[in-house]
Amino acid sequence: MSVPGFHRPKSVEDAARLLAETDGARCLSGGATLVAMMNASLAEPKAIVSLAGIPELAGIAELANGGFRIGAMTRHAATAGDARLAGTLAVLRDAARQIANPVVRNMGTIGGSIGFADPAADYPPALVAANAEVEIANAAGRRRVAARDFFVDWYTTACGPGEFVTGVYLPPPRPGAGLYKKLARVSGDFAIASVALSAAKDANGVSIRIAVGGCGPRPIRADAADALLSAKFGDAAAAAAAGEALAAAADPVDDVRASAEYRRLVIPRLVAETVAHARAALEAR
Ligand SMILES: Cc1cc2nc3c(=O)[nH]c(=O)nc-3n(C[C@H](O)[C@H](O)[C@H](O)COP(=O)(O)OP(=O)(O)OC[C@H]3O[C@@H](n4cnc5c(N)ncnc54)[C@H](O)[C@@H]3O)c2cc1C
Repeated sequence: MSVPGFHRPKSVEDAARLLAETDGARCLSGGATLVAMMNASLAEPKAIVSLAGIPELAGIAELANGGFRIGAMTRHAATAGDARLAGTLAVLRDAARQIANPVVRNMGTIGGSIGFADPAADYPPALVAANAEVEIANAAGRRRVAARDFFVDWYTTACGPGEFVTGVYLPPPRPGAGLYKKLARVSGDFAIASVALSAAKDANGVSIRIAVGGCGPRPIRADAADALLSAKFGDAAAAAAAGEALAAAADPVDDVRASAEYRRLVIPRLVAETVAHARAALEAR
């Protein structure tokens, strides 16, 4: 393995320029995945652009509109522990809390996780359910993409060559509940299937966003499922129909964790369980 050039820029603009100028360069965030891949000769970047020296990529900031910006270098442990991510945004905190184990949660970052876009990872469905936007930088500037459009295919995102994730924008939290349920072979493993749900409750009723992880190249969602659950939240038949709609929209494969058939079978059950827990959480408020 050749030794790649190592860069530690101090600004997003310098990082973008380095990534654009150097063919085969990759950015390094927590290193939990990239370093393991390099050790196993599964990745041989020509250059490494570390994002660790860029202050604006660190931490979670509250925005003037009451929403939040999570910098790309924010570790999973920080997101899991931030009590400001409440109400509908608790879905993201709940997902972060269930990633791997404390070592990985202290090392991995939200930018590295969604930039890599493992379809079994925990953030992608949670960001879709939270109605988040992903900020992408390149040498010409920045743009924002809705989370539901950011995840494009297996390990493929809306980031083009030379682009990288600089942060995630969350809308203001709404009163209600946010839950993430993950079915895994053992605690801390990637998901066989997962369900992320945000339930906003006000005087007009309940508004639901739901997404499924681990069951296709990107998070699975269905307008029909959101509409059914929003119209009759807590109704068992509506939850079953929403689960079937999501299973029909899924595109799972057989892998070491489970068969595609098993995944289609568990989606409605996981949806029903998540809806029941969200309903209980709303009633307890
Ligand atoms: C043992 C183990 C168990 C794990 N279990 C889970 C789990 O249960 N659930 C889960 O969701 N995840 C899991 N992960 C993944 C982990 O949570 C990290 O999110 C992941 O390793 C990538 O984050 P990182 O910051 O370490 O990225 P890095 O390893 O630094 O980078 C990973 C990839 O993303 C690219 N990249 C890095 N930063 C950016 C950026 N800002 N924009 C665009 N691309 C970028 C890199 O070039 C590289 O290709 C696990 C990882 C390990 C090692």
